[in-house]
Amino acid sequence: MRRTLAFDADDTLWHNEGHYAETQESFRALLRPFHDDAWIDARLHDTEMRNLQHYGYGIKGFTLSMIETALELTEDRLDGAGIRRVVELGKAMLDKPVAPLPGVTEVVQELAGEFDLMVITKGDLFDQETKLVKSGLGLHFSKVEIVSEKDESTYAAILERQGIPASRFTMVGNSVKSDILPVLALGGRAIHIPYHLTWTHEVVDSPVEASFPVLKSIRDLPALLRSW
Ligand SMILES: [Mg+2]
Repeated sequence: MRRTLAFDADDTLWHNEGHYAETQESFRALLRPFHDDAWIDARLHDTEMRNLQHYGYGIKGFTLSMIETALELTEDRLDGAGIRRVVELGKAMLDKPVAPLPGVTEVVQELAGEFDLMVITKGDLFDQETKLVKSGLGLHFSKVEIVSEKDESTYAAILERQGIPASRFTMVGNSVKSDILPVLALGGRAIHIPYHLTWTHEVVDSPVEASFPVLKSIRDLPALLRSW
């Protein structure tokens, strides 16, 4: 039985957080006549966190949170044109081209010969499926799991459903909180490849003793896996 190697998608296979940062800058510009940047950022973050229980992760929920925040911060004075602008910001995010991060295509191609490759990602189902197609990487992954949360119970359910023992499972991703710690807790292996931006919500509260490998680039992944 081949080992399963699972990849996170956003900011591991392709850029993501940068699109949010860019959009948030346009959102600030829209509301700058009313408030300062730090206050806009803080209110948007609060709205997003409050709404996770309603919308989950992804661009659609983020767009609704931007609209709600804009209405709150303008005390409902944001007009139809303003709301249209926010909707357009969200749609522009969904329309972004998906370019694999440097080295991803070659490494995924190479490892597909040795491992069962899987994608495990949060976000909107349709958007993530579309991104996988646009990235051109889809055919290399035998399994794709688009989930609402990436915690221990989610990973346990995936391994159970797919009949994969944790000892034969390795996860690769940019988020210590979502990609590394829950997998280690289940007895799997995990490899951290940091991205230069981390969404506030994914930042781990207390410093983590690095008991897992950290790679600068996905290009270093095949050599590490072979050394195991
Ligand atoms: Mg990620």
